[in-house]
Amino acid sequence: MDPLIITVAGVGAELTLEQQPNLPLTPADLARDAAECEAAGASVYHLHVRDADGRPTMDIEAFAAGMSAIRDSSDLIVQFTSGGAVTDAEDARIAPLELGPEMASLTTGTVNFGRDVFWNPPPLVERFYARMRELGIVPEFEIFEPGMIETADRIYRDHGGGHHRHYDFVLGVPGAMPAWPDAVQFLRSHLPDDATWSATGVGRAHDAVATTAIELGGHVRTGFEDVRYVGPGELAPSNAALVQRVTTLAGERGRPVATPAQAREILGLDAKAR
Ligand code: ZN
Repeated sequence: MDPLIITVAGVGAELTLEQQPNLPLTPADLARDAAECEAAGASVYHLHVRDADGRPTMDIEAFAAGMSAIRDSSDLIVQFTSGGAVTDAEDARIAPLELGPEMASLTTGTVNFGRDVFWNPPPLVERFYARMRELGIVPEFEIFEPGMIETADRIYRDHGGGHHRHYDFVLGVPGAMPAWPDAVQFLRSHLPDDATWSATGVGRAHDAVATTAIELGGHVRTGFEDVRYVGPGELAPSNAALVQRVTTLAGERGRPVATPAQAREILGLDAKAR
């Protein structure tokens, strides 16, 4: 098995500072968070950014500052969100890609998301994918339900190709695919043979999903975006602590964690392009 790539989704767009006082908001916060997470075993930072008041934003300057902060303090691969908050407009969601991060997330379908709808009709997905490829950005296909795998296959075939395919299963969002015990096994069985994948369970299913992914040769996403509590009423203490939990789970199963350089190799990223 490849060494384990741990992606930290450290900010997200849903959590408030009241819910999570340790949420990284400023570039200085992100720099510190990235360095701590790298030391704990992470190799990818899935980035959302906030404005000065802590509200989620797709402002391109804020993404530029966040990416610079992470790159200055760590060797982590920076992966931009292209989902934003579920209420963000299409043009706002695509704008930060012009900064040319190494990776960006790409959700390949529309799905209910709590009481909201995460809106990703085919023209939007095709537009985002085409722009990512023009800019040399490797997409991470975010899979909230099985149909999104089929759509990712079609888009790869019809609108691009020629890059490594990596998928991330996001399980347990209310309205999307639950973190059923057999969900990870089922989804991975429908991926292309040469693909890699990671998984994250939102909320209390997190550790079970992470363990399954570690044992099946997949990779793991963690962080405040996905995990609020680590026990009854016990807030996740830091993103690095969440990364360390995954590193420990992997170590107990004899699976070393990947360095950022190893992750670039596994994900088919061109280190020279950084
Ligand atoms: Zn995200």
